[in-house]
Amino acid sequence: MTSLTGQPVPAHRAGAGGPTPHGQVGPPSVPEKKDHERVGARGVLTLIALGAAAVIALWWYSTPGVSGLGGWLTGAGEILGLLAGYGVVVLVALMARLPPLERGIGTDQLARWHAMGGRYVVSIVVAHGLLILWGYAVEAHTTVLSETATLLTQYPDVLMATVAGFLLLGVGIVSMRAVRRRVRYETWYYLHLYTYLAIALAFSHQFAVGQSFVNNLAARFWWSAMYLAVAAAVLWYRVAVPLRAFARHGYTVIGVKSEGPGVISVYIGGKHLDELAAEPGQFFRWRFLTRSLWWSSHPYSLSAAPGTDVLRITAKDIGDHSQALSRLRPGTRVIAEGPYGAFTAGRSGRRVLLLAGGVGITPLRAMFSTLPGPVTLIYRASREQDIVFREELDAIATARGATVYYLVGSRAEIGGDPLSPKMLRSLVPGLEQQEAYVCGPPGMISAAVEALRAAGVPRRQIHFESFEF
Ligand SMILES: Cc1cc2nc3c(=O)[nH]c(=O)nc-3n(C[C@H](O)[C@H](O)[C@H](O)COP(=O)(O)OP(=O)(O)OC[C@H]3O[C@@H](n4cnc5c(N)ncnc54)[C@H](O)[C@@H]3O)c2cc1C
Repeated sequence: MTSLTGQPVPAHRAGAGGPTPHGQVGPPSVPEKKDHERVGARGVLTLIALGAAAVIALWWYSTPGVSGLGGWLTGAGEILGLLAGYGVVVLVALMARLPPLERGIGTDQLARWHAMGGRYVVSIVVAHGLLILWGYAVEAHTTVLSETATLLTQYPDVLMATVAGFLLLGVGIVSMRAVRRRVRYETWYYLHLYTYLAIALAFSHQFAVGQSFVNNLAARFWWSAMYLAVAAAVLWYRVAVPLRAFARHGYTVIGVKSEGPGVISVYIGGKHLDELAAEPGQFFRWRFLTRSLWWSSHPYSLSAAPGTDVLRITAKDIGDHSQALSRLRPGTRVIAEGPYGAFTAGRSGRRVLLLAGGVGITPLRAMFSTLPGPVTLIYRASREQDIVFREELDAIATARGATVYYLVGSRAEIGGDPLSPKMLRSLVPGLEQQEAYVCGPPGMISAAVEALRAAGVPRRQIHFESFEF
C-alpha cells in the first residue's frame, strides 16, 4: 500500500509534551546542555595537528644533522616512527569515550576519524619499518635482507615492535570495508582489541632505539605521560564509569513490548536516572547480563525521552543480538554505557524538521516529544507495517501541535522519489530556514542530506546520525 498522509495540527498547541515511556502525556523535558563539555571538531583537529607538529619538532631538536642517502632515509623513517607512536595514542583517545568528544563531536564522527586515522597510521607504520631498514642498510653498506636480520636479532626490542607492526597491519586489513563486510561484528571487534597488545609490544623499542628518546629524559617522561594518560582514560571511561553507573543506577529490564513485525521495545528501570543528564537523540551501549548476551555491548538509541526511573530502547531484529532482545526477562540486570552522541537538539530557535527512515525513527521519536517550538516529522518506510510508534506519534502531534507525514511505499508505488527536494519543499514550507535532523539507513541518510542541500538548507543546519560505525 502506498500512502502519503499528513496530520497538520494547529500550531498554538505547540509546546505540550508527548507520551512518556509509560504512555502518559507529560511536559517536555530537554535537559540543559553542558556547554563546558562541548568541543568543536575544528578545535580537536587543530589540537591533533599541533601534537603532530610538536612530534616533528622533537625529532628536529634531537637530530644534529642529516647527510647522505642513508641519513635522509633513516631520518624520514624516524619521523614516521614518531608520528606512528603519536598516531596510535590519538586513535585510542578518539575511542576512549571521553565525554567532551562524545558530546561535542559525536560517536559516529569519532568512529569515522578513527577509521580514517587508522588507515594513515598503519601505512605510516609500514613506511617507517621499510625506510629504517633501507636507511640502515645504506649506512652500513649492506643489503636490506642482512640489515633486517641484524635489526631483529641485535637491536633491543625491535623484534617485539616488528610483531606489533604485523598485528597492526592485520587489524588494518580486517577493518578494510571489503573484508569487514564478510566478518561478524563481534569477530572484527575482538580482533581489534589486539591493537592494545600491539601498542604495548611496540612501546619499549621507541626508548631503546629511538634517537629522539635515548638521551632525552624529558622527552621520555612526556611521551610516557601521554601513553599513561590515554590508558587511564580508557580504563576510567570504558570500564570504571560503566561499573560505577551499574552500581549507582541498578539498571534492570522491566519489560519488553512488541512494536510491530520484528521490532520490540525494551524498558529499562533504574534509580537516579536524572543524574545521567541523557538527552533525546542520544544512545547507550547496552550489555544485558544473560548467559548469551553478557559478553557484548550494542548501541541503541533512547526511543522515548528519558524518565527519572525508566529508559526505553527500540530495536529491529537484524542479527543475533537484536533478535535475542525479544527474549529478555524482567529482572535481567544491565550494564549501560552512556549517554553518548551529539545528535541532540541545538538552541538555534529555528523550526525543526525530523526525517526518519525505518528504525531510524527511534532517536527522532524521543526528540519529537521534547523539542520546543514547531516541529515537522517525515517518516519514510517501505511498508505500512514497518511504521512503528504510529499511535504515539499521532498522539504527540496532536498534543503539541506538530505535523507528521508518513511516506510509505516503494519509489515505483509512490511514483517518484519521496525525499526529492521538490517533495520536501512542498511538505515543509520555509524549509531552508529549518534545522533538519536525519536518521535512517546509510543510503537514506545520504539521499536525504543531498535533497536537503539541493532544497537550499545550509549544511550547518543538517544533522544526521548513522546506525553504522
Ligand atoms: C549510535 C547507534 C544507535 C543505534 N540505535 C539503534 C536503535 O535505536 N534501534 C535499532 O534497532 N538499532 C540501532 N542501532 C543499530 C544496532 O546497534 C545494530 O542493529 C545491532 O547492534 C545489530 O547487532 P546484531 O548482533 O543484532 O546484528 P549483526 O548481524 O551482528 O550486526 C549487523 C550490523 O550492525 C552493526 N553492529 C553490530 N553490532 C554492533 C555494535 N556492538 N556496535 C556497533 N555496530 C554494531 C554492524 O555494522 C553489523 O554489520 C544503532 C547503532 C548505532 C551505531
